[in-house]
Amino acid sequence: MSFIADRLNRILPSQTIAITQKARALKAEGRDIISLSAGEPDFDTPDFVKRAAIRAIQNGETKYTDVAGTMPLREAVAARLNADFDLDYRAEEICVSTGGKQVIYNVMVATLNAGDEVIIPAPAWVSYPDIVSLADGTPIIIQTTPENGFRLTADQLRAAITPKTKWLMLNSPCNPTGAAYDEHHLKALTEVLMDHPHVWILTDDMYAKLMYEGAVAKTFVQVEPRLRDRTVTMNGVSKAYAMTGWRIGFSAAPVELTRQLIKLQGQSTSNPCSIAQAAAKEAVSGPQDFIDEMVSVYEQRRNLVVSMLNDAPGLKCAKPEGAFYVFPSLEGTLGKTSKGGHLIESDEAFVTALLDETGVAAVHGSAFLTPGYFRISYATSTELLKEACTRIQQFCQGLS
Ligand code: PLP
Repeated sequence: MSFIADRLNRILPSQTIAITQKARALKAEGRDIISLSAGEPDFDTPDFVKRAAIRAIQNGETKYTDVAGTMPLREAVAARLNADFDLDYRAEEICVSTGGKQVIYNVMVATLNAGDEVIIPAPAWVSYPDIVSLADGTPIIIQTTPENGFRLTADQLRAAITPKTKWLMLNSPCNPTGAAYDEHHLKALTEVLMDHPHVWILTDDMYAKLMYEGAVAKTFVQVEPRLRDRTVTMNGVSKAYAMTGWRIGFSAAPVELTRQLIKLQGQSTSNPCSIAQAAAKEAVSGPQDFIDEMVSVYEQRRNLVVSMLNDAPGLKCAKPEGAFYVFPSLEGTLGKTSKGGHLIESDEAFVTALLDETGVAAVHGSAFLTPGYFRISYATSTELLKEACTRIQQFCQGLS
């Protein structure tokens, strides 16, 4: 009999974290490494947010708070969702957790029974299927295609729904593809969902503020308010406010489900960090213009990276609508051998050889359930990105 629980054998360590740690270790050994593997803004947390945290410490806001977060933060989150998406949530419908990741974990553990199915369009963020498996559910992976801009179509959704379907998990803009669903794309999905009242929606809007060319992100309940009573709208401060380390995410959901999420959180982690909550309250209710500045820098980097990767033999890179990732196809490099003697037999072999021979760390598409691609995060300095893309071009030119 194994000491470790069966549920742990159903999951793998996060591959993005593993690659990022490997890159960090190589750097510590003195290697010249450029890590494009982590999904983390290179911008610093804004000063006015940091000052709010310092004030909170000085004011003694260093004790337990309500499990679901302080009332001022929950109210500020509701107001932000209203300003950004025209959503109408009360503070009792908001639960603040330790990062968006805990929101997803709580929702799945609170609702899934063995055999319940969760539809996950792929490419998908590495943690979705593992969280579902950990919660005894069955991930149902639906491959989207580059022809459809890596978006789930209404026909694909309709075909995937069974009597056991409990959730559709949708992430827009998407990690790893950067693909975003506009109102028209969402409407097509909501029409299918209206025909299947047993299916709930978990919409992961973590990157919604990072949209390019003036586009504005939409979310499910905004497009179809009748879905409000079976939708969890998830968001957080990690990406849009450059606050990954503060660990604050939140959900807006019907009050009955929110109560269950709070019950679960109350018997696991309790409230998220009180100081981080004070900082997050300032972030979501304070001035938002620094986000526009970040977005304009990200947009320039996106254009640079897409153009440089498309000049690398064997790579094909679409221009994503949002987030800070590109997800190029490396199909044209498969079967070739690198200058350093690595046979590129898979996407994993490609990123391993790339790291080994050029010091550029990226994540293979299989980690996002889609082989034949790799993910680059362009949330790093323009100078480093140029250098990394030059190394990638040289690596691809050296394949024979
Ligand atoms: N959802 C997506 C799509 C992500 O990429 C991430 C982080 O990488 C998260 C959720 C989790 O964010 P947090 O750092 O707030 O837990």
